[in-house]
Amino acid sequence: MLNKKSVEDIDLKGKKVLVRCDFNVPMNDDREITNDARILGAMPTIKYVLEHGGKLILMSHLGRPKGQPNEKYSLDPVAKRLSELLNKEVIFAADDEVVGENAKKAVESMKEGDVVLLQNTRFRKEETKNGEDFAKELASLADVFVNDAFGTAHRAHASNVGVSNILPSALGFLVKKEIDIMGKAMSNPERPFVAILGGAKVSDKISVIENLLNKADTILIGGGMTYTFLVAKGCSVGTSLLEEEKVEFAKELLNKAQEKGVKLLIPVDTVAAKEFKNDTEIKIVKSDSIPDDMMGLDIGPESRKLYSNIVKEAKTVIWNGPMGVFEMENFAGGTNAVAHALADADADAVTIIGGGDSAAAVENSGLADKMTHISTGGGASLEFFEGKELPAIAAINEK
Ligand code: AMP
Repeated sequence: MLNKKSVEDIDLKGKKVLVRCDFNVPMNDDREITNDARILGAMPTIKYVLEHGGKLILMSHLGRPKGQPNEKYSLDPVAKRLSELLNKEVIFAADDEVVGENAKKAVESMKEGDVVLLQNTRFRKEETKNGEDFAKELASLADVFVNDAFGTAHRAHASNVGVSNILPSALGFLVKKEIDIMGKAMSNPERPFVAILGGAKVSDKISVIENLLNKADTILIGGGMTYTFLVAKGCSVGTSLLEEEKVEFAKELLNKAQEKGVKLLIPVDTVAAKEFKNDTEIKIVKSDSIPDDMMGLDIGPESRKLYSNIVKEAKTVIWNGPMGVFEMENFAGGTNAVAHALADADADAVTIIGGGDSAAAVENSGLADKMTHISTGGGASLEFFEGKELPAIAAINEK
């Protein structure tokens, strides 16, 4: 297990504490926040710093302003929401260069318990390049750094890795919870350990499958990559999504699974469609009988039953990627069935949703509070499941 410092391990009293959060919240055209879950997710760390006498300087990215100031991506609505939640003034330092006159002045006169929010870190092109000068500017504002943004932990940016290399650093509660729960699942899971992998392509999931072949008891495949595996097993897949150059690799994975005694299951039936749209001719077919002029867009009812029964017996389940084209109602059934299977899992089973589309599916089905953990980082959790070191976590000081 990682032995990184957490915010509880550092002295905050009277210190200027720079906290990297993930305030990348969805907004409507009027720039009103439509879901503040990410702001709420940062609250435990924010409150802890304030309760322990810290002077709190918050920073985050929002959207993709591509390294330039852009009012559309200003963090001012986040400052307003934070202020409502904390019931105190949050000074928004609206500097286009992020660390400008407003930020410096606001930070200089801070007292214990004060809160300053910096402008969108991606207004600076150096941010995503981990530019040293920008990291130094950010670090110059504070005494200590706390990283509480998991969604960007797989990227080495100035506002996470850069500042960690300069200031004494620690993890916030949100990031700590992410790596504690997912770290336990990957290093010492209660068994049976079942991994459910979907999404569009095999090529995106190769490293995850390879890593999980050494850890999981069962891997359940769904989504667009199903059809590359079916071709590897000698089936024809009609007009389904197929990565021909990955067929050999899929064969190797199937062989490796057999050698290692891991059950690698491919859907036994498919919802086949004439065209890639919701309203089209649909047929439920066995996976080895997909008509030449149809494409598989979801796992079929037998596969849903089979996968649900396996999840029922599991003690640890991780899920990343939808089982079908869940954006279209007629092909959302497989993804919803898996969401329900996880919600109905054994009471002491650990259920982990790896962010992104799967998290959205669980939230849309109203099942979020039935899961042990829904990761706040799709890309970051995928890299975690691949067994990769996340640079923004690696950069934090050891205990
Ligand atoms: P990913 O970004 O790899 O997690 O893939 C998510 C996307 O995969 C979603 O937009 C789904 O619509 C898509 N997807 C899932 N199943 C299929 C399928 N059978 N054929 C084509 N696309 C799919």
